[in-house]
Amino acid sequence: MQRNIRLRLLSNIVIAFMLLAMAWWSFLLFTKNKDAFKWHSRYDKMMMVADGVIQNDEQYLQTDLYKNLEAKYKRQEWMILTESMVFVVCMIIGVWMINKGYNRQIESAQERRNFLLSITHELKSPIASIKLVLETFIKRELKPVHINQLSNNALKETDRLNDLVNDLLLAAKVETAYAPFLEEINLSQFLQDIINRLQAKYSNVQFEFRRPEEPVIVSADRTGLTSVAVNLLENAVKYGSEETKISTVLRADKSNQNIWLEFADNGIGIPNKDKAKIFERFYRVGSEDTRKTKGTGLGLYIVNQIVLAHRGTIAVTDNRPKGTIFTISLPTNDS
Ligand code: ATP
Ligand code: MG
Repeated sequence: MQRNIRLRLLSNIVIAFMLLAMAWWSFLLFTKNKDAFKWHSRYDKMMMVADGVIQNDEQYLQTDLYKNLEAKYKRQEWMILTESMVFVVCMIIGVWMINKGYNRQIESAQERRNFLLSITHELKSPIASIKLVLETFIKRELKPVHINQLSNNALKETDRLNDLVNDLLLAAKVETAYAPFLEEINLSQFLQDIINRLQAKYSNVQFEFRRPEEPVIVSADRTGLTSVAVNLLENAVKYGSEETKISTVLRADKSNQNIWLEFADNGIGIPNKDKAKIFERFYRVGSEDTRKTKGTGLGLYIVNQIVLAHRGTIAVTDNRPKGTIFTISLPTNDS
């Protein structure tokens, strides 16, 4: 980081020097142009006086020769001025673009570092737990009830590993080769099933689901939509508060051309500066040192890619008094 600050300081000094040098050269050119005009007009006047064409300064100032000369040097003044301005503007744009690219590089290096740290942690902890369970089985004679308990824990850890690997594969797939496999889905029932499943898993969380009376039918990829809903709802649980309430709202327009899906929670919320970035691969709010939750930063990237592949959009806003709302808009069929 120190090195970055030093580099930026150095490049700022170089840029400031170049701008000052440019201003100085423009000033010199300007004054040289004025001098040249002065000497040129003086010479012309002397020649005209010597030839007896004019007698004094006033007569010289009225001549065409003087007027043309004055116009020519004025044009050169303007040229110097505009060329300096163009140079300065080009330089500012160039510096701005270089800075932008440089910042992007630093950000993506930071993201890669974050990802490596979190993925290593995510992979290591279930492996360590499973290893511990197996070692316990080898070293100790356990009662069936304990064997059962430990086996269940190990199974949960393998599920975690499986989810992680699936996320990594899905992220790679949505980036290059994802084409939704479309089928008619009763979205009302589909979401209700997912919410019931999550309600059973997180009994301390209050799930709520509002939907139109008529079933809403969409043409979509079942696996993709499952990933979208589960990722958003799991996030709402993961970044929830003491008493997490998660409300899912499904709406359809009158002609049934579009649907809107809203996932609202009352959790920790997302700072404005991070809202645009959370859909990027590996992006997680905060840093490895300050974060309390586990994750890879792939969930919302996958969600966004799947929604885009269905020609939909996703937006994030603040909930009141606190929390986050994710709103998805989708066309009901893909024709
Ligand atoms: P995983 O890949 O396991 O889902 P993750 O949850 O960290 O990891 P994303 O789901 O992509 O990754 O979310 C990116 C970041 O956005 C999260 O790290 C979190 O900081 C923030 N975030 C996402 N959903 C919410 C939410 N409902 N409330 C507050 N913050 C959220
Ligand atoms: Mg997530």
